[in-house]
Amino acid sequence: MSAAETEKSGTNKGLKFTNTLTREKEVFRAIDDENVRLYVCGPTVYDFAHIGNARPVIVFDVLYRLLSHLYGQEHVTYVRNITDVDDKINARALRDYPDLPLNDAIAKVTQKTADQFHKDIEALGVLEPSHEPRATQHIEGMIEMIKVLIEKGHAYVAGGEVLFDTVSMPDYGGLSKRKLDEQKAGARIAVEDHKKNPGDFVLWKLSSDEEPGWESPWGRGRPGWHIECSVMSEHHLGKVFDIHGGGLDLIFPHHENEIAQSRCAHGTSTMANYWLHNGFLQVEGKKMSKSEGNFFTIQELLEKESFGDRKWPGEVLRMAMLMTNYREPIDFSRRKLEEAENLLAKWPEPVETDAEPSSEVVEALKDDLNTAGAIQALHALAVEAVKDPARLPVYSATAALLGLHPVVADLSGVDEGDVEAAINRRLEALKAKDWAQADEIRAELTSQGILLKDSKDSETGERITTWELKR
Ligand code: AMP
Ligand code: ZN
Repeated sequence: MSAAETEKSGTNKGLKFTNTLTREKEVFRAIDDENVRLYVCGPTVYDFAHIGNARPVIVFDVLYRLLSHLYGQEHVTYVRNITDVDDKINARALRDYPDLPLNDAIAKVTQKTADQFHKDIEALGVLEPSHEPRATQHIEGMIEMIKVLIEKGHAYVAGGEVLFDTVSMPDYGGLSKRKLDEQKAGARIAVEDHKKNPGDFVLWKLSSDEEPGWESPWGRGRPGWHIECSVMSEHHLGKVFDIHGGGLDLIFPHHENEIAQSRCAHGTSTMANYWLHNGFLQVEGKKMSKSEGNFFTIQELLEKESFGDRKWPGEVLRMAMLMTNYREPIDFSRRKLEEAENLLAKWPEPVETDAEPSSEVVEALKDDLNTAGAIQALHALAVEAVKDPARLPVYSATAALLGLHPVVADLSGVDEGDVEAAINRRLEALKAKDWAQADEIRAELTSQGILLKDSKDSETGERITTWELKR
């Protein structure tokens, strides 16, 4: 791999992030300003998402919006996967659909859960990512990567599994700062006979007839969890990309092992240049758990009188989440939700505008996503806008940047032919690499409440653009 492919050769736009790799706040520079690449581990789809799961989704949605503002949405690729291979999914399928063939039962569980997840996070004001790959679409890529790891001496077959050999990677543990010998000394996990080292982890395991499986050189089996993200991120973002995110519980083992697989398979010195992790969410001061009775799904909060005996609008949940900075722990309490609701109640209705968002708010977000500071500044703007309508446009543009208080657009009078024509003009502009023109056309459509979604034709690789009306 050439240095140019990994070097942070983009410009310094004043963005700073606390990078888990170094534990320091660092200036962000992209590898390529024309394609800033972000990967976030998405949900494992076996059950309703809880309000803790909503935190990374909202936090990284704000990051996606900020990057889109700074670089142009055309130049940001955001991938958030769906994990639809997992033993918890199998168990749920057997429990809920005992009479169906296993594959059909699994498909039902994953589809139903993914649909609910999309509904939940839409209510939280979360944008769709550029790509949302599912693990089951990438099994072939996983088999290929495992083959490479075996060939390069980083993986071995034992006891019906393919395992990653952690000792084969001299700097294994760099993200979590765990050394292999510490892991041995403190090993609470009994070393299973077939493992060479206690920290070795599964890349592929054999499936029984009752378990889902795919044919592979090692027999019919299924992938381990970590290999899924290594393969899906490479597919959409390349061997090395800019930012990788998730909750801090994922640092070890999940992200450590993603790094080990990707770096050893590709022979690179890094997988992603910046690793961002959100802190944990508690409810009323306690770890959320079903036995404590303080476990709430997003859907319950939105639609049932569960938490505090009332329903909560999605916007209040989003606002409450952003009032605490992403790295800090957050205590989700009735008081906090009421505080968020009271602030929002003081905000005026936004207007349609192409004004630039407030630089004070943008600066706060550029400083390691200081959403707490951003909301404070936005609130001050909202109060000003109530008194002085001349401040409404900048207030509206700023609220939109945070995904709060969207304009309720008047959609009457949208002409489908005009929209299609504009999309075609944009596709032409993209082909001609006229990014400014393409950005302009997209912005014009967005201001009419028309959202564009780009994807690629899996056969021809050609860009396909679809559109929808939003509110
Ligand atoms: P899981 O489905 O458990 O893998 O979690 C999906 C995402 O939610 C991961 O990024 C987790 O780190 C995150 N997550 C799970 N529980 C919490 C919590 N209580 N607070 C914040 N993030 C969480
Ligand atoms: Zn992952």
